[in-house]
Amino acid sequence: MKQNADWMQRDLAVLWHPCTQMKDHERLPLIPIRRGEGVWLEDFDGKRYLDAVSSWWVNVFGHANPRIGQRIKDQVDRLEHVMLAGFSHSPVIELSERLVKVTPAGLDRVFYADNGSSGIEVALKMSYHYWLNSGRSGKQRFVTLTNSYHGETVAAMSVGDVALFTDTYKALLLDTLKVPSPDCYHRPPGMCWEEHSRTMFAHMERCLAEHHAEVAAVIVEPLIQGAGGMRMYHPVYLRLLREACDRYGVHLILDEIAVGFGRTGTMFACEQAGIAPDFLVLSKALTGGYLPMAAVLTHDEVYQAFYDDYATLRAFLHSHTYTGNPLACAAALATLDIFEEDKVIDANRALSRRMAESCAHLADHPHVAEVRQTGMALAIEMVQDKATKAAYPWQERRGLRVYQHALERGALLRPLGNVVYFLPPYVITPEQIDFLAEVASEGIDLATRDTVRVTVGLDLHPNHRDPG
Ligand SMILES: *Cc1c(COP(=O)(O)O)cnc(C)c1O
Repeated sequence: MKQNADWMQRDLAVLWHPCTQMKDHERLPLIPIRRGEGVWLEDFDGKRYLDAVSSWWVNVFGHANPRIGQRIKDQVDRLEHVMLAGFSHSPVIELSERLVKVTPAGLDRVFYADNGSSGIEVALKMSYHYWLNSGRSGKQRFVTLTNSYHGETVAAMSVGDVALFTDTYKALLLDTLKVPSPDCYHRPPGMCWEEHSRTMFAHMERCLAEHHAEVAAVIVEPLIQGAGGMRMYHPVYLRLLREACDRYGVHLILDEIAVGFGRTGTMFACEQAGIAPDFLVLSKALTGGYLPMAAVLTHDEVYQAFYDDYATLRAFLHSHTYTGNPLACAAALATLDIFEEDKVIDANRALSRRMAESCAHLADHPHVAEVRQTGMALAIEMVQDKATKAAYPWQERRGLRVYQHALERGALLRPLGNVVYFLPPYVITPEQIDFLAEVASEGIDLATRDTVRVTVGLDLHPNHRDPG
């Protein structure tokens, strides 16, 4: 039987991995996975890892889920794919009906793309094009929040603000308006999330007051800025934003690629603010983590601005080859069935309480500035100085040490910089949550132990490991 080392060698000879400095793999092992089952991933040496981050936030009902698997198997023997221009098929029709039903009222049209970034591109282009079709060609800019992330394609990067991903490509990006994020990590001592989020809205109000005539849309990640370090804010911000967008005649694009499908405690994050966007972008958990797909939902007013005789050239002539892929639709339909049949959103309440309880003690850790949580997402912010919240220099790669420790202990925890977080599949058990909390605590202890040593490379076998 093939072992990890063989597969790793073959991999490193031919692959180029995403979001990776490949040279790291001179010292950091790559982990070839043989199979998955539920929350577990198993490598070729038989070692198992609890997938605490849902394989980059996609997997909500576990790996090799028989209900999703069966639906895809049934579909693959019937119709694997057909182009969606001029043709249609039952899975895409059924899925669109279901999405219209489960999303906030008014979002009655569904356009598909084949990954999250492409979904963002669709929403940006549609918004700009809507204003063009409505005789408002001056509305060409987008407003976004600092520390936001909307994907890796060029326009999606333009509305993002995580320096690590975008700075290099600055020369290529659209000119967007950036408003300070309501990120509650930075709230003054003693201030609650709601008050801070409300206060920070003044920046947005000012920006829209000044620029609304040239702005097509505001785009935000509702409640959680994911790739920006799982930074969180209060729903009141979304309520104020919806109201201001209406007042200034600007679209609101909500990127629920990461937070949609129950992650924040409600099916969609915007429900907590009681609002509906003009464009809702979904992906990631949409297919239960099985196949790449994105959906962009909008309302009839937008749709009608494109609906005309062909010769008027008002149509949205955007396409992705795999748009509406039947296998992905089948996976999404099975996923929606599970949400409904298993009353997942209700069941998650107990799980998110358990996450809070099992990690509560970390708030007292001398190198933890904050333990924060929104629904099924919990984040622990490691800092050099608890009092001033001074961050560890990024060069020290403290999060990576937590990652390595977790792997040794059989957990996949992949921190974002100095932020250790859990975004587990919803099929995790309370005991498994306790296990993750224990592994994270140990990892944070190890990673924050020495305060002087600067590690640019990595130690595969850290000699400062303490068995206690
Ligand atoms: C992951 C993510 C994207 C990009 O989706 P991809 O499928 O990776 O292109 C966009 N926005 C948010 C909020 C995300 O978390």
